[in-house]
Amino acid sequence: MTDYFCQACSQSRPIEVNRYCCDCGQPFSLLPTASLLSPSKIAQRPPTLWRYREALPISNPESVVTFDEGMTPLIHTKSDYCDHRLKLDFIFPTGSYKDRGASVLLSKVRELGITRVVEDSSGNAGAAVAAYSAKAGVDCTIYCPEKTSAGKLTQISLYGADLQLIPGNRAQTTLAVLAATATTFYASHNWNPFFLAGVQTVAFEIAEQLGWTAPDAIICPVGFGSIYLGLHLGFRQLQQQGLIEKLPRLLGVQSEACCPIFQADVDNQTEIEPMKASRETLAEGIISERPVRDRMILTAIRETKGAFTTVSEAEIKTGLETLAREGIYVEPTSAVVVKALDHFVANGAVDKDQLVISILTGSGLKATEKLTQLFEAGQMGCIDD
Ligand SMILES: [Zn+2]
Repeated sequence: MTDYFCQACSQSRPIEVNRYCCDCGQPFSLLPTASLLSPSKIAQRPPTLWRYREALPISNPESVVTFDEGMTPLIHTKSDYCDHRLKLDFIFPTGSYKDRGASVLLSKVRELGITRVVEDSSGNAGAAVAAYSAKAGVDCTIYCPEKTSAGKLTQISLYGADLQLIPGNRAQTTLAVLAATATTFYASHNWNPFFLAGVQTVAFEIAEQLGWTAPDAIICPVGFGSIYLGLHLGFRQLQQQGLIEKLPRLLGVQSEACCPIFQADVDNQTEIEPMKASRETLAEGIISERPVRDRMILTAIRETKGAFTTVSEAEIKTGLETLAREGIYVEPTSAVVVKALDHFVANGAVDKDQLVISILTGSGLKATEKLTQLFEAGQMGCIDD
């Protein structure tokens, strides 16, 4: 159960410190756990993501690294068109949903007796891995693009991680970390399947909060696709266990500045062609020129009758302000979902009166410096009262 599994080769491989992908180059998955989730048992447990422990690939409860995170609020929001609700997944100890993955991944690291990890990140996953490494007593080095928001970098450093700032774009940061993975465990939120196993708890929570049913559609930001894939993994497991009838449509949002998944979907491709970012974007957390789990993302789109859209910088700013006027302060990467709903309504991906959930992935407090710059440059405050 704790081996890696390659979907491309259909072979299992033992977990080793310096093995982060299959010999064929594809990322590993995990075989589904055999244990069934029991709603009546779950209802009696504390409101943390570990209430779904039967679906989490950790054998030894003493290895679990947790801040009692999870069970984030699911709230109603205004919409004239559909039943629109927001999953406040920025309410986590480090300020982003990435704590779901980090909790399970660092639990596995501790279970395996590993004492050092490396990770690369545009910020949020780095902060999550750094925090849970601190909690677990694991040495941690985080590689970040040097243009990452100052707040995220400070957060990573204060957790005690060794922060390596890499000049250039996100892809160059990935190249830099890969050199370190020859000798150190790669606690990657993109490559490591234990991270994804933690992220799937967002699907379990949504289903439980809806009385063990699935919504019609879920909208989320997509860069490397960890929340998109976590939703697919989680809802598929619930469906296979007979706890829900149908999968929700998974609707992904990318920035116009870098949208390889959107393009692959539009062009009906069988693989996602890498795409260079055309410019910088406020949505720094979803710049992914080469999503490593491209085949899994395309499978998720197909199986859920999913769709993708892109948003402009102006739409991201409008999204930020719209949410803030409801009292919700998220980072620009999260705010892409607001105008995306309009697109999905216009193109028919969302029907009238359907139940639609938008996932808000990261706190605005992470990006205060960038948001302050926008405000001072007169680029915010565009919404009429
Ligand atoms: Zn393989």
